[in-house]
This record gives sequence, C-alpha cells and structure tokens, in this order.
Amino acid sequence: MRAVVMHAPGDVRVEEIEAPMIVEPTDAIIRVTATCVCGSDLWPYRGIEELKGPTPMGHEYVGVVEQVGPDVNDIKVGDFVVGSFVASDNTCEICEAGFQSRCIHQVMMGSIGTQSEYARIPLADGTLVTVRGEPTERQARSLLTASDVLGTGWFAAVAAEAGPGKTVAVVGDGAVGLLAILAARQLGAERIIAMSRHADRQALATQLGATDIVEERGDAGIAKIKELTGGYGAHSTVEAVGTQESMMQAIGATRPGGHVGYVGVSHGVELDGMNLFFATVSLLGGPAPVRRFLPELIDLIMTDQIDPGIVFDLTLPLEDAAAGYQAMDERRATKVLLTL
Ligand SMILES: [Zn+2]
Repeated sequence: MRAVVMHAPGDVRVEEIEAPMIVEPTDAIIRVTATCVCGSDLWPYRGIEELKGPTPMGHEYVGVVEQVGPDVNDIKVGDFVVGSFVASDNTCEICEAGFQSRCIHQVMMGSIGTQSEYARIPLADGTLVTVRGEPTERQARSLLTASDVLGTGWFAAVAAEAGPGKTVAVVGDGAVGLLAILAARQLGAERIIAMSRHADRQALATQLGATDIVEERGDAGIAKIKELTGGYGAHSTVEAVGTQESMMQAIGATRPGGHVGYVGVSHGVELDGMNLFFATVSLLGGPAPVRRFLPELIDLIMTDQIDPGIVFDLTLPLEDAAAGYQAMDERRATKVLLTL
C-alpha cells in the first residue's frame, strides 16, 4: 500500500510499504478515506524531535472498517469510523475517569501511522466510534478534525473550564488553537480572546467565535489581556503551542483562581516554582482524551451545528504529502488534508 514515510528532517516520501494485518484479536483494519498532517508532525520534520530511521507518519484518520479481529464486538465491517490519535480500551479506571489518552493499555497511533491507504487500529471497540448515516463531503472533513485537532481543542477548553460568563484567552493560532475557540463558543464562553498576529488566522479565529484579537506576545501580550479584563486576566486560558514563551504567556494571562488547559506538546518548557506558586492557577493538560468527546463531537458535526473542517485550507492527494508538509512548515497552510 502507499504510505507517507519520513526519512529525515525535511525528507517526506510517499512509498510502497506492507499493508497492515490483524495482529491482536482486538484489532481492526480500516481503509483510510482521509487523513491529515498535524502540527506535531512538524516537530520531527524540523529536526526538533529525533527520528529513528524511516518512520511511517500520521495519527489522524477517518475510514471504513475492512476487517476485525475475533474479539471485536461493537465495530463492524463496513462501518464508517472516527477514532482518537491514541488507541484505548475505554474500560480501565483511567478511561472510565475520562482520560482515555492515558489508558493503561494505550497505543499511540503515531507509532503505527495513518497517512496510508490502510491502518491497523488496536483496541478497536474502545478506540473507534461508528458514524451513523452517510456523511456529506463537508461533514467528512469535519469528522476528520474530531480525530485530533477538534478533540484536542475541545479538551483544552474543557480543561480551562470555559463556560458561560467566562473570558477565555487562547494562546496559539494553529488548528488546535482555532478549534479551541470553536469549543469555547460552544461551551458558552462570554468572551474569547485569540492571541494571533497573522491576518489570515485572525479572520478564521473571528469566524469561529473569537470576540477579541491580541497581537502582542510575551509580557506585552499578558499586559494586553489584563487591560482587556479590567486588570484581572482571563478566567480560562488555552495553551496550544508547547513552547516556553507560550506556556508562560498562558499562565501569566490567567487570573488567580483561573484555569489553564495546555495541549501544545511541551518542548523544552521549564516552570519556575515560585512563579507557579504565586500564579495561583489550576493547570490541566496533556494528550487530549479525544475518545471522551467523540460521540458528542460526531453528533454536533452530523447535525451541522459545528463546521470545524474549515481549518483545512489545503487539500492534496496522499501522493503529494511532501508538498503538504512543506506548506505547513512554511505556514502557507494551517492544516493539510490528504485525500485517498
Ligand atoms: Zn483504558
């Protein structure tokens, strides 16, 4: 089958690899109908994360079930499914508490790869959710976002306790930050401040529900958020980048007693104990338990209440994946959809 393989930083190729087979009795094999390039795929692309030899890429997917193992009961051949970027049993105590991304049996889909014609999905019953009805092309694009970026933005907003009467600040204007704005609006936030200095992203942020835009970063950005909130800071802040600057910006923009939901994969972030002590904020983050939110997100998409697929601003055939990586790396694209 055809699959995206990263050989070295900046070197992405589409090549022939062996098609997946059922390994565990709880596995399913899906025919991937759409996949995409994630901001986190850029970390190895930029050489910030080390690659151990040629690596099949991707962890976001929608598709049709082709085959199931003997212990798969809920997922059927022919189902159109969406799954999280982390496979989970959805039955252990961690899963039951709503943190499926840290399931005791978790399998990171990135270690398997989904930018390919077919993908093996471990723990299929606990990982996949069947979509009822026939999604339109537009709905299918949105369902693909539920696999990671929408689910992650949603978790960030929930972790930050976005809701009625709250002012939510969002640090990061990539797909996750943008969809955290959509989530905050859906959750009923009163005011949503997008921190972005790119005109195209600002326009999308506004379309998705941002009420204010702050272009300043770092201390100046924090000062601006305080100025906009009567000196208090935001009740809820989403951190969707993962750098030292963005994390400090998020904590600094949050009022004492407020909440920070941090979902940018942390790279080199160090927190000073004394700053953290006096910040007096709640921090909750990590890999998003997308599986917790999937049934609700699928329902919102299939009833046309949300249209998160608008974050895809470049669509390419899988064969042109290298161009997609390059476009995202150069920030010419927010989010690249790969068709099959
Ligand atoms: Zn579990």
